Amino acid sequence: MPRKNIPVPVPRGSKFCHSCQTVHPLSEFYRNRSQPDRHTSQCRECVKASGKRSREIRKIIEEGVASIDARLANSTFKYEFPVEPMSVPNR
Ligand SMILES: [Zn+2]
Repeated sequence: MPRKNIPVPVPRGSKFCHSCQTVHPLSEFYRNRSQPDRHTSQCRECVKASGKRSREIRKIIEEGVASIDARLANSTFKYEFPVEPMSVPNR
């Protein structure tokens, strides 16, 4: 991921959250060993908000799939996937 420009000065012990565009103290960030500075790129509030949003998105998708399944169960339409032989690319 390319490093984005931070539009505000970030004091020592603080970090800029690219999600809410706000500087927070490092204590406002979760620890993440895979990050160079050992903290997540989003502040705790943004991590919580994006977790909530992704749960909501997954719920909508699951409800959508469930309604498709219900419609297919009541349908006589059958779709068969074409079966193609496995091909090995020439390299
Ligand atoms: Zn944030």
